[in-house]
Amino acid sequence: MRAFDRPTFIDEHTLIDDFARQLDTLARDGALRNRRSVASACGPVVEVEGRVRLSFCSNDYLGLASHPALIEAAQQGAARYGVGAGASHLVSGHSIAHDALEAALAAFVGMPRALYFSTGYMANMGIIPALVGRHDAVFSDKLNHACLIDGAILSRAEHIRYPHADPHALEAALKASRAKRKLVVTDAVFSMDGDIAPLPEILAACERHGALLLIDDAHGFGVLGQGGRGSLNHFAIESDRVLYMGTLGKAAGVAGAFVAGHATLIEWLLQRARTAIFTTATPPLIAHTLLAALPLIEAADERRAHLRALIEKFRASLLATRWRLADSPTPIQPILVGGNQSALDLQAALDAQGLWVPAIRPPTVPAGQARLRVSLSAAHTDAHLDTLITALGSAAAP
Ligand code: PMP
Repeated sequence: MRAFDRPTFIDEHTLIDDFARQLDTLARDGALRNRRSVASACGPVVEVEGRVRLSFCSNDYLGLASHPALIEAAQQGAARYGVGAGASHLVSGHSIAHDALEAALAAFVGMPRALYFSTGYMANMGIIPALVGRHDAVFSDKLNHACLIDGAILSRAEHIRYPHADPHALEAALKASRAKRKLVVTDAVFSMDGDIAPLPEILAACERHGALLLIDDAHGFGVLGQGGRGSLNHFAIESDRVLYMGTLGKAAGVAGAFVAGHATLIEWLLQRARTAIFTTATPPLIAHTLLAALPLIEAADERRAHLRALIEKFRASLLATRWRLADSPTPIQPILVGGNQSALDLQAALDAQGLWVPAIRPPTVPAGQARLRVSLSAAHTDAHLDTLITALGSAAAP
């Protein structure tokens, strides 16, 4: 036997020790994550680990996650369809509830057709590889969500990341590219910064260079635009080269995601988006519940107005303090602190006052840009917000 044919035996404990050392490094760098188990429904006040906390963590922007009408719809959906779909959509898991939901979502966002996915993560991981492959290129904002990045990597297309919210840099990259097919992907509202992408300028660059545009409106759907129709409506964008992805576990209060666009593109995704094809369909009761959520979103102008007032009040109250906010007009209001430990210390100081605001650290955000991600919801009262503002006033600066 030649030396290089000889198998090398690495004892399993050596392998496990290697991971243990990496975990130690994470702990040393203040980068270890932990989960806290919540014992109550999603809302501004939650019970967590035996204590009541005022929460500024969730993306339940309209306060629909525990809306009585949706709880009732879920119960009715379970009674009618059971709790599991039993198979994938292309086998026997596609119910009339899924079908009605897709039609309702397309009508809601004003696009010809929509396709439902089990989560937003699955949507982007399925859509991008279905649209582009080798010899193609994906152009992606540097601060895009992880699932757009992973979808681009999975596609095997060249992955070109342009500086954050910079349509000129995007234009230059599109111009320089010789790729066969070009796909631009961007968050509409950036999940950890709260700013809104310059979508009209991005679309114009796509038009000049023959690119398709995938817009991830996870944080704009339900919040921006008329009747909460989202970021395209906010900018009055209508274009056949746009694919609009919205998630349904945030402002819509339930779970899942959809992509809407030109009927041919949606039919192609139905045929080729692997994360929609090779997975058990989401329980039809979820689609049934979402059908009840859409009219609530549309009728939620008062909730959106209250949310806007909370955002303005929060920003104005922090102006004269030592806390630095990101330039965000949306319910995502990050307090930029920098170091991991500073973010953890501020999180702990607020926790000591009964508040739950999550520290966000790398790799979710770039190194040295740790922050507290304050997320506001229409379910917060003025008194809830005052409690947060007072607590921040008394918390020591990092
Ligand atoms: N896109 C963006 C911009 C997100 O912030 C998120 C979730 N945080 C997702 C997609 C994934 O959506 P989901 O939670 O439904 O998987």
